Amino acid sequence: MRVQVAIIGSGPAGLLLGQLLYKAGISNVIIEQRSKEYVLGRIRAGVLEQGTVDLMDEAGVGQRMHAEGLVHDGTELCFKGERHRIDFKKLVNKTVMIYGQTEVTRDLMDAREAEGLTTVYEAHNVSVHDFDGAHPKVRYEQDGVTHEVQCDFIAGCDGFHGVCRASVPQDALRTYERVYPFGWLGILSDTPPVSHELIYCNHERGFALCSQRSPTRSRYYVQCSLDDKAENWSDEAFWAELRLRLDEEAAANLITGPSIEKSIAPLRSFVAEPLRFGTLFLAGDAAHIVPPTGAKGLNLAASDVRFLWQAMVDHYRGNQVALEHYSERCLSRIWKAERFSWWMTSLMHRFPDTGEFGQKIQEAELAYLVGSTAAATSLAENYVGLPFQD
Ligand SMILES: Cc1cc2nc3c(=O)[nH]c(=O)nc-3n(C[C@H](O)[C@H](O)[C@H](O)COP(=O)(O)OP(=O)(O)OC[C@H]3O[C@@H](n4cnc5c(N)ncnc54)[C@H](O)[C@@H]3O)c2cc1C
Repeated sequence: MRVQVAIIGSGPAGLLLGQLLYKAGISNVIIEQRSKEYVLGRIRAGVLEQGTVDLMDEAGVGQRMHAEGLVHDGTELCFKGERHRIDFKKLVNKTVMIYGQTEVTRDLMDAREAEGLTTVYEAHNVSVHDFDGAHPKVRYEQDGVTHEVQCDFIAGCDGFHGVCRASVPQDALRTYERVYPFGWLGILSDTPPVSHELIYCNHERGFALCSQRSPTRSRYYVQCSLDDKAENWSDEAFWAELRLRLDEEAAANLITGPSIEKSIAPLRSFVAEPLRFGTLFLAGDAAHIVPPTGAKGLNLAASDVRFLWQAMVDHYRGNQVALEHYSERCLSRIWKAERFSWWMTSLMHRFPDTGEFGQKIQEAELAYLVGSTAAATSLAENYVGLPFQD
């Protein structure tokens, strides 16, 4: 097979890139190691920045998102048992869209199928070759047969554990990492959300987040220990712990029900630099990870895709240097999102050394945030997504 761009991974980054390139007349194939059902079954992000919403529209897949997604004008911070609202619309005249990653993925997969574009699912032993030159190749196995894709470029959209970053010579790559000493225990339930907006809770027992996917489907999280296991938590134990971390009104209004998914996610900050190695480009979780506190993971993946799609389009229109700035453009935005995600995580969570002093400092900072227009504006500006610097 010969295409212009071989995309590894059918997460949001790979699918979005595939659709945008197709719209620009650039041929591509997506090679995914898992089945379609497995990819669709992963419960992950749910908050889309305006820039991500715009990209979904640009890719021609925004219709269902606009019909079913929920526009949020703000969010709430809860500390010392009280909730305070940060009004994004008023502070920065922007909003966010609540629309699950699963739905983003489904819309992109449906569009790809409708256009008859190729996605190879359940591709085994995917490997990337010759990306230090102009004729890179991707090989994979399926049903015992080895296949080869020849291309101009490889887009490594294969997530944190993928093969693309791992195939780069170690001396060409610099990585930065922080692993947090706790995780998030998350529950998905078909119950109405406790509030029409998200609630981020700082509590002495640990962080909690009341999030949602739709008016009838909620996603709740509590900070937990890293050695905890989801199966150690009955639904009742989860709801009881969540209630303890909420303000009185939210605790009283919380509607509980059976979980339809329950899992623990570790928290990590990670950046690999650069994002380009010859004709191989990394995008999304393949290049960086943020703790989910700032709702940036999926949005950063979309932002890389935006830069890569634009650079590839410019390249095929004859701009020979278009791809040279990809890495630095992405990294400028990535590090700002890393900072914001690290800051929100540090502010909201209980660390092993937080202690009484640390708790007081967190509460003082939260009080400053909700009491100062300048501080609240800074939070709002980052949460809704910083502007793109093209
Ligand atoms: C448990 C969890 C919860 C999360 N919650 C949130 C949240 O609440 N908010 C938020 O903003 N972000 C969240 N994130 C982060 C967000 O989901 C990711 O940032 C986003 O999925 C990144 O998209 P991606 O396409 O870059 O990577 P992925 O979605 O990871 O997609 C990569 C794809 O590549 C495939 N792949 C991997 N290796 C290979 C290979 N060798 N060959 C072929 N294919 C391969 C994988 O199967 C996968 O389909 C969460 C992540 C996790 C893991």
